[in-house]
Amino acid sequence: MAEFDYDLFVIGAGSGGVRAARLAAELGARVGVAEEYRIGGTCVIRGCVPKKLLVYGARYAGEFEDARGFGWTCEDLRFDWATLIRNVRREVDRLNGAYTRTLENAGVDRFLARASLETPHVVRLAGRDDTLSAKTILVATGAHPFIPNLPGREHLITSNECFELEALPERIAVVGAGYIGMEFASIFAGLGVAVTVLYRGEQILRDFDMDLRDGLAEAMRNRGVNLRMNANVAAVEKDGGAYRVQLKGGDCVTTDLVMAATGRVPNGSGFGLQQIGVKLGWNGHVAVDEFSKSSVENIYAVGDVTDRMQLTPVAIHEANAFVETLFNDNPTPVDHSFVPTAVFSEPELGTVGFTEGKAREMCRQVDVYKSRFKPLRATVSGRDEKMLMKLVVDAETDKVLGCHVLGGDAAEIVQMAAIAVRLGATKAQFDATRALHPSAAEELVTMRQRWEPPAPVAGSDAAA
Ligand code: FAD
Repeated sequence: MAEFDYDLFVIGAGSGGVRAARLAAELGARVGVAEEYRIGGTCVIRGCVPKKLLVYGARYAGEFEDARGFGWTCEDLRFDWATLIRNVRREVDRLNGAYTRTLENAGVDRFLARASLETPHVVRLAGRDDTLSAKTILVATGAHPFIPNLPGREHLITSNECFELEALPERIAVVGAGYIGMEFASIFAGLGVAVTVLYRGEQILRDFDMDLRDGLAEAMRNRGVNLRMNANVAAVEKDGGAYRVQLKGGDCVTTDLVMAATGRVPNGSGFGLQQIGVKLGWNGHVAVDEFSKSSVENIYAVGDVTDRMQLTPVAIHEANAFVETLFNDNPTPVDHSFVPTAVFSEPELGTVGFTEGKAREMCRQVDVYKSRFKPLRATVSGRDEKMLMKLVVDAETDKVLGCHVLGGDAAEIVQMAAIAVRLGATKAQFDATRALHPSAAEELVTMRQRWEPPAPVAGSDAAA
């Protein structure tokens, strides 16, 4: 008789949990997984995938506008939200089925229930009298949207509810200007909703490169999104069928829907972790080492619940490394260097490596190459929007430390550039690469001119 029911029990069947469960089972482990909502997790059910499909849907608005310059007549255009959301939900259902079959085919036992831990080896599933035991536990419970604690917070929806909307509002206020806020602002604006973004900071997308932040803010404003910075929400009140968003300082925004895009909190509490000695970090994340091991010997955690980088490929990488370490006799620490990421706003933004600001903190001398240009397509479409490309280079080693792109296909471009950046390519090697012409991305291998910060003007603050 085996000492435990399972070699591995995974709590949460999202990006990290499904990957770890499948790989461990394929290596011969007896694996069980519990999921309290839907197999596939955030990315598949109410994150990356349905979001990107909505992005595609919303982008047709700009495409139709641009088509006119190319001779197309686009009259009597109408958009039907019910069709879009129905088709998106159908794809989500398909993926939910595909992920379920993946686990099934790998021989993983699936439990559609909330799991909690009674001891480091004993799992209780909601709705069942018995318990299950496992040698190793993997916590892959993800994160949930954070709603600020302000009067009227019950009126706010989050990204979760955006996928449940049966009709589009005429106006929406998006509170927060991180990537989820910017993406949904662009989606709603593209679909004809009047969007106001309210953010307490100075500029959108904190932590991204400053040129991209400024460039995207300008482009979104030109596309009709009302971006209000230094706007601190004090309260939200229901006013008949509408809402009044009260700002600190007295101003007020009236709208039909208010979305909180104010960050995501790791799901580290409420299922027994602390009670059995697992240490949680400042925002409730499971604190882990480089092998994703928690403070309890047999309990590991991967993905958003560890709050290292809340991205799907990161959760998957951590799951891969965890399985290699524990089930393939190959200790593999996680590697979070040079993870590319995108904001699927309109226009889109892609980025990998150091921002200019970070590079200036880390290196003695930094060279910056920047190109801001009108893409070929815009010469005929007439769209007044510039594309921005930027390389951040360590002047001492000539290594490209960061690549930042704002404009069409930025995510696709940066995914490829990320290979070179990760391999430590130098600026000279970028330059030695032949351009693919005519493309926007060729700009990345033809930027010869270093960008110099403007010289301080005598007598100004900058010169002091
Ligand atoms: P999840 O995928 O969240 O899975 C955790 C699962 O655990 C959930 O299904 C949950 O129901 C379950 N669970 C929680 N507690 C329990 C319990 N006690 N018992 C049983 N089950 C439990 N990332 C990208 O890389 N690119 C993107 O474009 C992108 N877009 C996003 C857009 C939105 C709107 C959101 C919200 C996220 C987006 N992300 C994106 C982030 C990405 O979805 C997450 O980083 C990823 O899903 C994390 O995977 P995970 O396995 O850690 O957690």
